[in-house]
Amino acid sequence: MDALLFSVPLTGLSEGIHKYEFACGPAFFKEMGSTDDVIADLKVDAHIINQSSRLQLKLVYNGILHMQCDRCLIAYTKPVVLTESFWISIADILSIEDQIILVPAGHDRLNLSQHLYETLMLQIPLRKVPCDDETLTKAYCDKNVLQSLQGVSNTDSEHTKDLEYWNTLKKLKH
Ligand SMILES: [Zn+2]
Repeated sequence: MDALLFSVPLTGLSEGIHKYEFACGPAFFKEMGSTDDVIADLKVDAHIINQSSRLQLKLVYNGILHMQCDRCLIAYTKPVVLTESFWISIADILSIEDQIILVPAGHDRLNLSQHLYETLMLQIPLRKVPCDDETLTKAYCDKNVLQSLQGVSNTDSEHTKDLEYWNTLKKLKH
């Protein structure tokens, strides 16, 4: 991953707001090492605010994740809308913490690729069932598929009952 592609300058900034924009699509997730194919159409606006020699970074994430229901395999989208705000401060080691980014002196750029990747990966639910997702208003599971799955599990439980019946019979014989 080209570090410059997802980085913002920290030096040589005039007073005021400096805007940068990053596109995070499937290629971004793949290059960052995701083992799952993440289909996403996401944009991150980064604003570096230089005010009285203090630097602030605002990240505004916006876009959608394309996913598939674990239960009925229907395709659905999950919107991503997220804002983060950090103060940038000088320290011995580079680290991104809650609301503060520590940068060693002499760093003239800040690479955000790892941070963007980790933040966006957290937006992907572990369990993808749109009908159970309270953040979604208009995604419904495919009823036909759910009914046929229900049919399969009913058959399974009938099969189990049959087995129990035969096992009971076997025990009675002995
Ligand atoms: Zn579903």
